[in-house]
Amino acid sequence: MRGTITATGILLAVVAGYALSCAIRPYRDCWCCDGRGHHRSKRKSKLSRPCRWCRASGKRLRVGRRLWNRARRLHRDAGVAR
Ligand SMILES: [Zn+2]
Repeated sequence: MRGTITATGILLAVVAGYALSCAIRPYRDCWCCDGRGHHRSKRKSKLSRPCRWCRASGKRLRVGRRLWNRARRLHRDAGVAR
């Protein structure tokens, strides 16, 4: 029983920490282009194409923040319908 309470506490602390970090820094570098926004071509020419994952911004919204935005939108839409 005590182990269950401890595990729950640790899980809650981790979730709260992740939520806080998502609130402070909602964006992270794009995994596909490493935050550059463009891909270097494989051949050594100077041509580079924009990254389609981050739409050439180099930043991606984190998963936690995306869930938070979706929940807020759902909550807002539910409030309007009433
Ligand atoms: Zn990218």
